[in-house]
Amino acid sequence: MSHTAEIISVGTELLLGNIANTDAQDISQMLSELGINVYFHTVVGDNPERLKAAVAIARSRADIIITTGGLGPTCDDLTKQTLAEAFGKKLVFDEREAQEIRDYFATRLHSHQMTDNNYQQALLPEGCTVFHNDCGTAPGCAFEAEGVRVLMLPGPPRECVPMFRACAMPYLRALSDTELVSHNIHIFGLGESFVEDKLRDTMLRLSNPTLAPYAKSGEVRLRVTAMARTDAEAEALMEPVIREVREKIGNCVYGIDTDTLENTVLGLLKEKHVTMAAAESCTGGLVSKRMTDLPGASEVYLGGAVTYAVSSKTAILGVPAELIRREGVVSLAVSQAMAEGVREKFGSDLGVGITGIAGPDSDGSGTPVGTVYVSLSTPGGTFTRSLHLGHDRDRVRTAAANHALDMARRYLTGIDVEEWEK
Ligand code: ATP
Repeated sequence: MSHTAEIISVGTELLLGNIANTDAQDISQMLSELGINVYFHTVVGDNPERLKAAVAIARSRADIIITTGGLGPTCDDLTKQTLAEAFGKKLVFDEREAQEIRDYFATRLHSHQMTDNNYQQALLPEGCTVFHNDCGTAPGCAFEAEGVRVLMLPGPPRECVPMFRACAMPYLRALSDTELVSHNIHIFGLGESFVEDKLRDTMLRLSNPTLAPYAKSGEVRLRVTAMARTDAEAEALMEPVIREVREKIGNCVYGIDTDTLENTVLGLLKEKHVTMAAAESCTGGLVSKRMTDLPGASEVYLGGAVTYAVSSKTAILGVPAELIRREGVVSLAVSQAMAEGVREKFGSDLGVGITGIAGPDSDGSGTPVGTVYVSLSTPGGTFTRSLHLGHDRDRVRTAAANHALDMARRYLTGIDVEEWEK
């Protein structure tokens, strides 16, 4: 039987726009991993009457209600009382949770005085399943009443999200006798509409597994999801679909369930014992940042140079001033000279060179904003992509760094480095 959940986020700060509703976003993603439909997110302030009204609507259209927030010890934290009342449940004092709260204060909050209202958090709906809170004092809980499952979680994301993963997901998974398994196919170098066009027939044909695209900053991801009695059966259903996607999309598939392009590149550099360095202008060190965000990168990522001014390209990388004068600082020849220069200076096997105009203003040379040249210098020669990446500064910089990483990824896997959708 398929389930439908509604998330009710309780908190006046959410309505005032003081904070974003990240709990609902994270919970929705986790519900989709479980194959539970979410048709509505509701936000309501710290007001019992309006919360009661929201619950009345939610129970008419969902069989799972998940609340976040309003479980704290202060008097505006009214979620438990309101939900228990709406479903005819008494709140009973849970001595085990009271002891957990005492222990939490004793061991983790030495400087805080525990007050009587902290015990309010140990009042829980009769017969509920308690979700222990490892990161705070408010326990969450779940109960069933009148055909509806009600789950209540604390508001702070660092409490809500781990609790949902550790407690609510197993609770919800047990409602169903099927397993839902997903894989994410990561694609770089093709637009979302191109990918959809290539795979439209496959997507329409499939019902289990399903295949759906979602765009992710500068790349495309496809999610394959199968429902079956066991993991192995789900994997067997997905295998031919993943194969078909690979056949249709080819070398632009850079990984399955891999995190990011830089993760893929780091894995390949390590596997092949190849080192890399980057010289960056318009990306301001983004390639270096993304590579060095990954633990263990120092083994193969030797370093980078942000050569933003014309003079630093000459002084640090040895790009001939005459070449810059003749070709222009944003040019194919300069990006190649940067890639070759950084490779030589750092003594790395691969060198990246990026020069371009990230905008929003042009540099007065007549070169359009968004023009970027990305080069990869390798022992076998230097490869370059001439790119036109639009007018949004952040997007231009992210896309340029993505291209540099994709070129390295392609070189390291022995496929055409310069190919991508123009
Ligand atoms: P506490 O014990 O801290 O009072 P609580 O369960 O009562 O926890 P709230 O008082 O509703 O939760 O919210 C506490 C804080 O958690 C908010 O100030 C806010 O920073 C964060 N928070 C609450 N709800 C959300 C949400 N839906 N998304 C993101 N952050 C949230």
